[in-house]
Amino acid sequence: MKAIQNYINGELVAASSGGTIDNYDPSRGVVYSTIPDSAHEDIAKAVEAAEAAFEGWSNTPKEARGAIMIKIADIIESRLDAFALAESTDNGKPVKLAAEVDIPRAVSNLKFFATAIQHFAAESHYMEGIGFNYTLRKPIGVVGCISPWNLPLYLFTWKIAPALAAGNCVVAKPSEITPMTAYLLSEVCKEAGLPKGVLNIVHGLGPKVGDAITRHPKIKAISFTGGTATGQTIASIAAPMFKKLSLELGGKNPNIIFADCDFDKALSTTMRSSFANQGQICLCGSRIFIERPIYEKFKEAFVAKTAASKVSFPQDPEAKLGAVVSKSHMEKILSYIELAKEEGGTVLTGGERVMMDGEYKDGYYIRPTIIEGLTFDCRTNQEEIFGPVVTITPFDSEEEVLMMANSTQYGLAATVWTENLNKAHRMADKLDSGIVWINSWLVRDLRTPFGGMKNSGVGREGGFEALRFFTEPKNVFVKSN
Ligand code: NDP
Repeated sequence: MKAIQNYINGELVAASSGGTIDNYDPSRGVVYSTIPDSAHEDIAKAVEAAEAAFEGWSNTPKEARGAIMIKIADIIESRLDAFALAESTDNGKPVKLAAEVDIPRAVSNLKFFATAIQHFAAESHYMEGIGFNYTLRKPIGVVGCISPWNLPLYLFTWKIAPALAAGNCVVAKPSEITPMTAYLLSEVCKEAGLPKGVLNIVHGLGPKVGDAITRHPKIKAISFTGGTATGQTIASIAAPMFKKLSLELGGKNPNIIFADCDFDKALSTTMRSSFANQGQICLCGSRIFIERPIYEKFKEAFVAKTAASKVSFPQDPEAKLGAVVSKSHMEKILSYIELAKEEGGTVLTGGERVMMDGEYKDGYYIRPTIIEGLTFDCRTNQEEIFGPVVTITPFDSEEEVLMMANSTQYGLAATVWTENLNKAHRMADKLDSGIVWINSWLVRDLRTPFGGMKNSGVGREGGFEALRFFTEPKNVFVKSN
């Protein structure tokens, strides 16, 4: 059984306590590796290593920093199949999805920020007859990155890449549920010649390792992606210490389908935006609002396509959905389906666990589920389920659908389907959402600001926003006469 290790000061090491935690393969429901059960003493060692490395790394020319990051990206790319298989085994997602989305995006994240930093400039402000200001943007020092299990290497690299490119040294924690590709990354970093201590990856439980990162006084900034409740806990500890915080949190995203949409495109993209990665993407559109004139037609076609979607083991090339990430997460999703029924909802398709055969018989599979007949303000329509479960609701006017779409505590992403340009812009303007996709979903340009409004987060990632987050601005005024 593979024993995953921490990556501290350039070495692969066990937790100081020697303790380990079981790591499950959710497609089989069995333990297949272990991770270090790290604690605050491991974070202390990682911070010490990062602090020692900072002088060297922050003074390394950005071209040389970028070159090492590109080397890391190239090695990952050359091992795409191994990384995709590891991601899929850890997470339960179809291997095809990991090979087409997760791993290529991790490679892009590293390459994007390795080169973005070469174009990153700070401002100067001229004052007529008085002098001028210039602003330095320098790396912060040691920063913390904490990421979730749904898109493991994709989101892990989305954080560490801008942090490293900007010249910081990093102490990072992947989710304890999906640690494998972060571990493979640490092996690649050694191979690519990343100087020791520049990146430290510490595995373990959120309330132990994540909490130790949050509390460490020498970690000056934290970039976190995860649930809103965890974000609240982190903010309550980090804010009084005046740490810089970027929080990318939960969502309950509306997918708004007007009667004048391109029906076939709306339908096929809605299949993806509902059930890709088993619905475990913070950007999935889990509340589908359909304009009444096409409600029945859309419902019929959507239910038929969903019922025909194959749920299967991750290596089945025909699998549209694989396993959900863990037993407890499966139970949470199933409990929400029960709640939806109690709240008066009708399950149109799905609604149950899928029992597989043979070696996959104990895996955590759920049939993609569509529910109708719920009010917009019931718990099922307000709380994040984070699984292959969507609700459908008819609407009669723009005002009504905007009121329902904006009714949750969240404001991460929204999708609008219409062929009417004015209506599309009007909706985009009025939706409480950090990201709006018109006639599309999950099209990402890495230069754009990424993040949510309301309880979906604080701050933005992506492009220069991320490089600004990971640098400290210092303004210098020079008197000219
Ligand atoms: P969690 O909030 O449970 O965990 C996220 C990370 O935080 C994990 O590494 C976790 O460790 C760690 N953690 C847990 N408790 C603490 C703590 N007290 N202090 C510090 N760190 C802690 O989220 P999930 O992993 O369950 O991910 C799903 C959530 O992430 C959903 O709400 C989803 O919407 C959100 N998300 C948001 C995105 C966005 O961009 N806005 C993108 C993707 C997901 P451990 O795994 O060991 O518990």
